Amino acid sequence: MRYKFERMEFLCVRALLLLFMAAAFAMSAQDVPPLGGWSEEDSSMVARIHEQVLGKGECYEDLRVLCKDIGPRLSGSPEADAAILWGGKTLQEVGVGDVRMQPVVVPHWERGGPERAWLRVDGGEMEPLRVAALGGSVGTQGDLEGEVVVFRDFAELDSLGEAGLAGRLAFFNRPMDPLMINAGSAYGGAYEQRSKGAVEAARHGGMAALVRSLTHAMDTFPHTGGMRYDEEVVQVPAAALSTVDARRIAGLVQEGHEVRVGLNMGCMLHDDKSQANVIAEWTGSEYPDRYIVVGGHLDSWDIGEGAHDDGAGIVQSIEVLRTLHALGYRPRHTLRVVLFINEENGNNGGKTYALRAREKGEWHVAAVESDAGGDAPRGYSIDATDAGTAAVRAWKEGLSQYGVGDLRRGGAGVDIGPLKKEEPAGKRPLMVGLRPNSQRYFDYHHSDRDVFENVHERELKLGAAALTSMVYLLDRLNYDDLD
Ligand SMILES: [Zn+2]
Repeated sequence: MRYKFERMEFLCVRALLLLFMAAAFAMSAQDVPPLGGWSEEDSSMVARIHEQVLGKGECYEDLRVLCKDIGPRLSGSPEADAAILWGGKTLQEVGVGDVRMQPVVVPHWERGGPERAWLRVDGGEMEPLRVAALGGSVGTQGDLEGEVVVFRDFAELDSLGEAGLAGRLAFFNRPMDPLMINAGSAYGGAYEQRSKGAVEAARHGGMAALVRSLTHAMDTFPHTGGMRYDEEVVQVPAAALSTVDARRIAGLVQEGHEVRVGLNMGCMLHDDKSQANVIAEWTGSEYPDRYIVVGGHLDSWDIGEGAHDDGAGIVQSIEVLRTLHALGYRPRHTLRVVLFINEENGNNGGKTYALRAREKGEWHVAAVESDAGGDAPRGYSIDATDAGTAAVRAWKEGLSQYGVGDLRRGGAGVDIGPLKKEEPAGKRPLMVGLRPNSQRYFDYHHSDRDVFENVHERELKLGAAALTSMVYLLDRLNYDDLD
């Protein structure tokens, strides 16, 4: 049956229709911002996030507990177990989302007590030398002593020829490049000395590898860090020297002195252990089966307190959940806060998380990590498709008001990295890493200086607010349009 409009009736219907369309548009403009846009609502929400974290944030106190009550927490250690329990309890106390443990098998390496090391110049007296075994190194099986040969890179080692390094120690002394503006890039440029130095030394007959600490700072603290062996090459011990000692030893060798270094390290590799990623899951209101992950790593090296690396990222990630909950926000996508285990010597937490996600075919629309220290945030590093990168870059002006407008392409984080490789739902997640000021990070990194006292409360909180703002903005995006 057909319905015939009277003219008045038609006008009324048309007016109603226009009103309805206007209302629908207003609603969609409010609920779903244009792709990559920055709405008035975003301005007000990001302002509220900063007020909440800077005024009432609890991340600094969380960091104090993690650093002072638990302390360093290398994978496999009882302290890592304690950190996992603490993480679960702290996330539960936030009062939103389900908290669970995801089992992860981790390596269990131990330094085996403080190392003993000494220096002997031109056959003189033994002088004590401060070293830190590199993580994963074998022990020395008692005392070991030999002459030091200094190298800038592996190519110099190759030029030794047949005689090789027999009975001597290789000392890799290339400093982090002072001309690079980003300290992380300078670290990356010197990193292979630490990760492969022992293999290269052994390949040329050396009895051990010494490595200049990876820091721009000239001080007396050795910095540890991961290294690996090659199945084909004999395993020799490896240790870091402070930059002050590295400079002195290299100077003595250059002046023609005979410099010998002795080492006694009791490092041990035990059987693997079962530990866990800690996950808090807050179900999304619109897309419960699409995931946004935010996290950092709960494990740390066994010296210092793992305050910047990565206690800061852990407490900032917890603060994301606490802040959004306190503000009455309800995420559209399911939000997962993940406290990853074992980033430092294996990344088994990140790998296990991505594998489980792939088994379930979970679509991770976005993943965010804070693992570059607790210093003042400057921006974000984006690892995404062109469309994803453009969507984040469209927030530049808004974010710049908070000092975090430095948006550039780059790695987003080691823990979330495997999500890119696995692409659990066959789609690349939009990955973002918090990018704090990098200049002092390596002063502390993996050393006795990485303690709570060296994290600045306000800078840590600014980072937490920047991390929360990014998670909020990513939750506002429409991922169907991002393909
Ligand atoms: Zn880290």
